[in-house]
Amino acid sequence: MKKSFIKIFQEENFIGAGVVKTNLWSIMVFLLIVVFGLFYMNQSVRNDYTQVKEAANLQIQLQTLENALVDQETGQRGYLLTRDISFLEPFDRGSMYYQVAASELMDRLENYPEYIDQTRKLIDTGTTWKVRYGDKQVHEAMTGHQVTSEELLSGKKQFDSFRQQQDMLFKKFEDLRNRLRAEMLRNITLTLVGMGTMFVLFQCIMLYFIQRGLRRITIPIVQLDKAVSSYANGNISAELPAYSSSNEIGRLIHTFEDMRLEMQKDQRLLGYTYQMINTLNQAKSVQHVYQETLMGIWNIIECERISIITQNADRSFTIKSSIYHGVIDHKEVSLGGEQKDVHELLEGGFSMIHEDWNVYRPTGSVTDYLHEQGIRSSMHIILRKEARVVGVLNLMSPEQNHFSIQQKNRVEKLAPMIVTAIENARETDKIQRLAMRDGLTGLWNRRYFDESLHHLMTRVVTADTERHLLSLILLDVDHFKSFNDNWGHQEGDLVLKHLGRVLNDYCRPGDLTVRYGGEEFAVLLPDTSLSEARSVAERLRKLIELESPSRKYAVTASFGVAEWDGYQLGEELVHAADEALYQAKDEGRNRVCCYNPKSADQATEAG
Ligand code: GH3
Ligand code: MG
Ligand code: MG
Repeated sequence: MKKSFIKIFQEENFIGAGVVKTNLWSIMVFLLIVVFGLFYMNQSVRNDYTQVKEAANLQIQLQTLENALVDQETGQRGYLLTRDISFLEPFDRGSMYYQVAASELMDRLENYPEYIDQTRKLIDTGTTWKVRYGDKQVHEAMTGHQVTSEELLSGKKQFDSFRQQQDMLFKKFEDLRNRLRAEMLRNITLTLVGMGTMFVLFQCIMLYFIQRGLRRITIPIVQLDKAVSSYANGNISAELPAYSSSNEIGRLIHTFEDMRLEMQKDQRLLGYTYQMINTLNQAKSVQHVYQETLMGIWNIIECERISIITQNADRSFTIKSSIYHGVIDHKEVSLGGEQKDVHELLEGGFSMIHEDWNVYRPTGSVTDYLHEQGIRSSMHIILRKEARVVGVLNLMSPEQNHFSIQQKNRVEKLAPMIVTAIENARETDKIQRLAMRDGLTGLWNRRYFDESLHHLMTRVVTADTERHLLSLILLDVDHFKSFNDNWGHQEGDLVLKHLGRVLNDYCRPGDLTVRYGGEEFAVLLPDTSLSEARSVAERLRKLIELESPSRKYAVTASFGVAEWDGYQLGEELVHAADEALYQAKDEGRNRVCCYNPKSADQATEAG
């Protein structure tokens, strides 16, 4: 009870504390007004009442004064009539009382100076009656004189004058008393009205504060209601106003704002995910799939680097692509088969998070390298095709405990799609490669040759070498028609296959070996001069002549060689080599002829 009462005054815990406090203040101030009002009323009424009582006392004193004079007169008259000395006793007592009452009356009149003269006159009248008529007549009677009726009448007149004055003064005191009483009543009324007004005024102030307190509660609720309605309609961009989070409503608004931001983040992530799915579906090559996978995950999960590692047929590993601080690197890095850490990940077969590398990390050279680079936590998502593990997606961060279970679940859900995209792209790559290859010899086909010639020419021109050279060898099997006729078409095919192997084995990896037509072949040689190309052609010629697939027959071919002049179109270069080939045929076959632009002296070497 005490605790909850104290809590009310700690505003940060209770939104209604303001209202409760205002109410408590209101009660306290009300009590204060009542106590102060009663106290004030008590003081002022007591004062007024004393004054009213004082006015009444004045009247009583006046009455006492009269009674004292009446006593004197009664005593005097009794004595005058009976000469009985005992009548002098009330006469003297009256006289004594008169003096006492007179002095008391005068004392009481200190606060009412306006009545002093009149009162003094009244007292004097009474005293005059005593001195001139009371005492004198008693004295005369004592000494045996008869008091005359004129003297008695004069005494009576004086007495009547006293009575008249006393009567008037009594009325004046009566008026004074009435006036004071009215004043007292007015004061009481004023105090009550004052208290009432103060109370109403204070209540108004309190009402103002209470409504402010209530608005503090209702306004955020109204705003929250509006925001929540707009969220329900799918618009989560409406921001909530900032409130101090020191009370329940503030904390509620903060929680809602956090929730909204979380929803916004989820929506953004969902957008990135859809985008990733879309681009993966449209990826044209495996490399493209790797790139879109890395970029997509990079958008969804904040981290320092991501890589894709795949397992090759020989169980060795290759880093296919990686992204570091948002920059993609497609350089393939072969890891060999001895990477214990990568083995552990792939053979475990489960996606996992290594929360803190200082506590645990797989042991191996890749992890050691990354640890040296400052990586402190990682997440590994296994890529599998059905039951077979095909690779792993590695996310790295320099912070400990950077990755969450939710993030792992999110990427795990994407993993099958990534694998499918890789498989599809591999399939597409294979089909595309097949479409460019000759089925019999495995060499590039004419279509690929035509497509590549232009690219190669551009590459030669922009190459970072001093010699921008490109040469072309065309070769055609000699008398192949009659070979077919003699040995059959199948044997002819074997010969063509054999020639393909010879070309493939002898030429450099940068050379383009092509089955140009039926029994015609082409070799495109970058960074090769005409004389170098002629040497190659000559070597090939000899190889073909010597290495026949069967001892039963010999196969020869004629060669035409041309060098690109840097300006010719592709067809023109082919045409030049063809012309040289034609010449080789013309000159007796099984020889190499080079194209001479001046067309005059075309070099010939015959076997
Ligand atoms: P030469 O070139 O020496 O002038 O005489 P040739 O007999 O080789 O003449 P040509 O080039 O006109 O003949 C080409 C022959 O190659 C025709 C065809 O029977 C044969 N040929 C073309 N393509 C194939 C193939 O794929 N397999 C086989 N076995 N023979 C083919
Ligand atoms: Mg031919
Ligand atoms: Mg031929």
